[in-house]
Amino acid sequence: MDRVYVDNNATTRVAPEVLKEMLPYLEDLYANPSSMYTFAGQAAEKLKEARSRVAGLIGADPEEVVFTSCGTESDSTAIWAAVNSNPEKRHVVTTRVEHPAVKNLCEHLANKGWRVTFVPVDAQGRLDTDFLYRNLTPDTAVVSVMWANNETGVIFPMEEIANEVRRRGIVFHTDAVQAVGKIPIDLGRMPMDMLSLSGHKLHAPKGVGVLYIRKGTKFSPFLIGGHQEHGRRGGTENAASIIALGKACELAGEHMQEEKNRVRQLRDRLEAGLLAAIPGSAVNGDMENRLPNTSNIGFESVEGEAILLLMDQHGICASSGSACTSGSLEPSHVLRAMGVPFTSAHGSVRFSLSIYNTEAEVDYIVEKLPPIIKRLRGMSPFWKNAQKKAKKAAVVS
Ligand code: PLP
Repeated sequence: MDRVYVDNNATTRVAPEVLKEMLPYLEDLYANPSSMYTFAGQAAEKLKEARSRVAGLIGADPEEVVFTSCGTESDSTAIWAAVNSNPEKRHVVTTRVEHPAVKNLCEHLANKGWRVTFVPVDAQGRLDTDFLYRNLTPDTAVVSVMWANNETGVIFPMEEIANEVRRRGIVFHTDAVQAVGKIPIDLGRMPMDMLSLSGHKLHAPKGVGVLYIRKGTKFSPFLIGGHQEHGRRGGTENAASIIALGKACELAGEHMQEEKNRVRQLRDRLEAGLLAAIPGSAVNGDMENRLPNTSNIGFESVEGEAILLLMDQHGICASSGSACTSGSLEPSHVLRAMGVPFTSAHGSVRFSLSIYNTEAEVDYIVEKLPPIIKRLRGMSPFWKNAQKKAKKAAVVS
């Protein structure tokens, strides 16, 4: 096989239907949607349709949808809006397992003098919600908790958290970048104030996102400029990508059942195949409450990066749980927060599937990966030591 792409939490391919929908707005219908003439009106109409399609997927009102340039911009806008709208409040609550888009911003706020509480998770990556509620005070300006984790796929109990936070009158934001399009979301039932999503995680192009802002939420824009998005985000709209995102949301709604059933079955087949073939391997994360497409597996005593490089030779594209690409040899902050032992956290690989994956691809990974792990363990002093220890323990008992 030339390429088996199982890194869909990093980004997804643009769906062919989505590409078809956006191309006319790059080729012939390139007018600025804010212009007055009929030519521009076509783009403006299509933008309106996109807004309704996005709103339809998440159970929002179209007026509550603000288009942005990415998930990171949506997260930043939401958190800055909350702290700027509540200047007297100097406390922010988030979790220890957020994506850097939220984590690094909260650390930045901490450096600037805000008090920031990072809520811990347990060994399965489940949030300590009691800790969260105990730490909410009248001084809390905003709570930002991700809906689903990008590394492990663990889903947090969003409805309960949103209700508890709102009950105390505190602004609640969720980074739903990994959840939208993979699991049903109905903001009619969830009292959150703001939600972030990103196009390239659901088969739209990179460089387009959405911030949902519930009607009545105090808000101040991050990008101050033109009147676009009703003054909530200045800048000429990225019309073609927004139109693409609208189509991607419509498709995601149609594919939700497939994601729930077929993609989940593929993920489970991959997981079962690898766990059976590779001793010293275990799933990281709560297996009950997980995105249907994600599997994070720790392989004892091997380097995640080495696994990725050798898988790459077979055309397999996945991600590792450690962060060498960011210049550090530390395992991921998510796995560390879960207390995953160092020897396993270092050898963790995230597989994230999509509706475009097939059974044949899954079987290909299950065939290629076990010899790779065996080969790497043959060179690993950690593995040899662990084996010796295990043998000694067996003799003693
Ligand atoms: N939040 C989560 C949970 C993510 O997984 C990502 C991207 O990986 C982002 C935010 C950032 O989204 P974007 O790449 O659109 O800025």
